[in-house]
This record gives sequence, C-alpha cells and structure tokens, in this order.
Amino acid sequence: MPNLPALSLLLCVLLWPPMSPAQDREPATTPTTPPDTMVPPAPAWLEALDALYDQRIRVAGLEDRRFAPEQWWSLAGPLASDSRGFRSERIGRSAEGRPLRYVSWGEGDTRVLLWSQMHGDESTASMALADLFRFLGEHPRHPLVQRWRRHTSLHFFPIVNPDGAARFQRRNAQGIDINRDARALATPEGRALHDLRERLQPRFGFNLHDQDVGTRVGDTGRGTAIALLAPPYNQAREVDAARARAIEVSVAIRAALEPYVAGRIARWDDTFNPRAFGDLTAQAGVSTILVESGGIEGDLQKQQLRKLNFLALAAALDAIATGAHAGLPHAAYRELPENGSSWADLRISGGTLVLPGRAPARADLVLEFDDALLERGATVLDIGDLAGRPARRTIDATGLYIVPVAIAGSDGSAGVHAIAPRARAYFHLSRDPQGREIVWTLAGDVDPDQPAPARD
Ligand SMILES: [Zn+2]
Repeated sequence: MPNLPALSLLLCVLLWPPMSPAQDREPATTPTTPPDTMVPPAPAWLEALDALYDQRIRVAGLEDRRFAPEQWWSLAGPLASDSRGFRSERIGRSAEGRPLRYVSWGEGDTRVLLWSQMHGDESTASMALADLFRFLGEHPRHPLVQRWRRHTSLHFFPIVNPDGAARFQRRNAQGIDINRDARALATPEGRALHDLRERLQPRFGFNLHDQDVGTRVGDTGRGTAIALLAPPYNQAREVDAARARAIEVSVAIRAALEPYVAGRIARWDDTFNPRAFGDLTAQAGVSTILVESGGIEGDLQKQQLRKLNFLALAAALDAIATGAHAGLPHAAYRELPENGSSWADLRISGGTLVLPGRAPARADLVLEFDDALLERGATVLDIGDLAGRPARRTIDATGLYIVPVAIAGSDGSAGVHAIAPRARAYFHLSRDPQGREIVWTLAGDVDPDQPAPARD
C-alpha cells in the first residue's frame, strides 16, 4: 500500500510553485528585465552605427518635433537628390493642396514601402526617415548601405498628412482620421497611399506612428517606449507566410532595441480593423510592421526615440536585405506584453479645494496634457479621492489649498477659472485658503522653470 502522506507531499513538491502567469508582476517602480532568453542577440554592427549616428547621420534642424512639412522637405529633400541615387515624384496633393511626395532608392528586387505621419502630430518616424535619407546618401560605401542597395528598393512616403502636420493635429484638413480611411478612401492622402501600394506591390510595409505617452507595458508601471505589431489580415488573426515574415522582422527590431529599452517594448493590440491601413496592407499580402513610438520620460522632443526609430529601421532593413529574419523565434514577438492601461499625466494629491461660495474640501486632481512630455495644455480629468489613480507624475499638495485663478475681463468684470472635470486647468496652490501665499500656479502649461511647488 502506498504511503499516502508521503505521496501527497511529493505531489506538493512537484506542483510547487503554482503555475504563474507568463508576464511579470513586479511593482511599478522596479525596472526589471523581462524573460528575454528567446530574444536573439543585438546585431554586431549596432554599437558602431549608434556612434556614427550621433556624429554623421542625425540631421540638424529637427530638434523640435513640431515642424512644418515644408521645413522637413527643405532639410530632407536635398539629402534625397538624384545625384545620391534617389528618385522623387509627386503622387498627389493633400486636401489643402500641399504636395504629396514619394521618394525611392535602391536597386534590389525586394520592394519595401515605408510611410510616416499619417497622423499629423506623430512626427518621430519622419525625423528618423530624414536621418535614413542622409545615411543612404552620404555613406554609400557603408556595408549596410551596400547590402540594402543591392537587395532592396526602398520606397518612402514621408508625412502622408502634411495638412495635419502643419497644425500638429491628428486628422487631415477634412477632419478625417486617414488611418480609418483605408477602406473608404475619402481622403486624397489615403488614396495616394493606397495607389502607391497597388502600384508597387511591395513585399514589406512599415506603418510608422506615435502612440499615447501614458501607455504602460502590459500590467507593469513601465511606460511603453516602442510598441510593435505585425497586423492581422483577418478577424481570426491567422499567421500566413507574409505575416510570419512581419513577425520575424519585428523580432529583429526587438533584438536591436533591447539594449536600449528592455522591458519597455510592447505589442500593439492585434484586433483586425478593416478601416486601418496597416491591416488592409497586410490583407493585400504585404508583410507589414507597425512601429509606434510612445514616450521616454525626459525625452521631451523624442530625440532618443528618433534614434531608436532609425536603429529599428536599420535592423529591419538589414534583416530583410540579408534574409536573416528567416527562422527568428516568433515567441520573442508573441511574448511581448501588450500595451496596457494608460496613466494620467499629473496627479495633485492631498490638497484642499477652495471654490467660491463652497466650503473647502479635501480633493485630489488628476490632469492630462495636450502635450504630455512638455506638460502643455492641461485639462482636469477628475476631482476627489484619487489616491488609487496612477499618474506619470505626482505633486504632493498636502497642507496646501487649491484656489482658482482670477480672470480679469477687459470690461472690468471679474471672475475665476472653473476647476471642474473637462475644464482647462488653471489654479494656484497656496498656503492659505484665500490664495495670498501662492507657491505654485498651473496656467494651462506647466512652467518648465518651476515644475512643482518649492517645499520648505
Ligand atoms: Zn497614429
């Protein structure tokens, strides 16, 4: 007869620890290395290209991520001249009549189509494409450039949405989100992209965007620096040969970025969207890769992310040119955590709210900014007990009063800015409820010289 207590003890030992979820659940503040044993090593050329980038690839004049499309072309156009092996063509006009320009380079058989900034306020990849033009044109004997020239032809449609870019807004001048226009083709910009793809029949497509800076990696507290997606081509999200190639190229990108932003690379939601260009391009049989630049704290103009975009594209193009993507482990893509929740930008915690004609009340505020990195254009999201609501930054207002900012009308009338959900955020933090001893003011934008109250 078996010894039952001993057997159950043995089973306990065998089954312990209990099965744990694949994703880590570290506390928000601890940087961790994700399970990365399946990630291939970074390319051997990465360090040298990184150093070259700083000295001789980064294009000057794009230090501010808000730039007019005309400014971008005045810098990037000469870098992509005929004498440097580029061909340029106008392929349409935007809703407001701005030229839509397409640039190609390379002599190889594998056609690659790259498009950027179809959302006008998502400029990170456009900056990196200017750098890529410079690399291709000014370093013709670089081994990477030689390989790419021989094996690929690169087809660029930078700044798909120049009217939106001119205003730094998402939508085009018709108010339409071009990335929901892939099926209807009601926008001239969407039609130009669609027609270019039909004409080229590329093997690979790169769909280059920026995403919300507040988005976290999976259920961690880490902000997503870069999110990747090999978009599905049907509702069932099946993987055919074309999508498998896109997954492999995504792994090549991850391998190059891992030394910089390990644990801050996520996977974009892969629900099939038949109105989105990435998904419809995948449906057309193109191995499509979505690259979404998120945020890196302190990288206010996304210049670090710009470099990471350049290095990511270099890794992807080299994997395509050499065929080295074949056989890269899909697990290194699949096991990336998905984009998780989005954190608010700023929480003012522990203060006491003083509204005209109301008794003072203990209340936290949670805010979001139009520009999360530069903290410009604040709107109140919520008021009350918000201790459990995570935010990218918290100001401790314990012992301080939140008092309205006065509005002086030109006709001599007086009032105060509302402090209310969905209102623009204008308020003082004061040591007293009357607002005599003001220690900090938020007037829509955070003053970069005084980002938080001085506490003594
Ligand atoms: Zn976008």
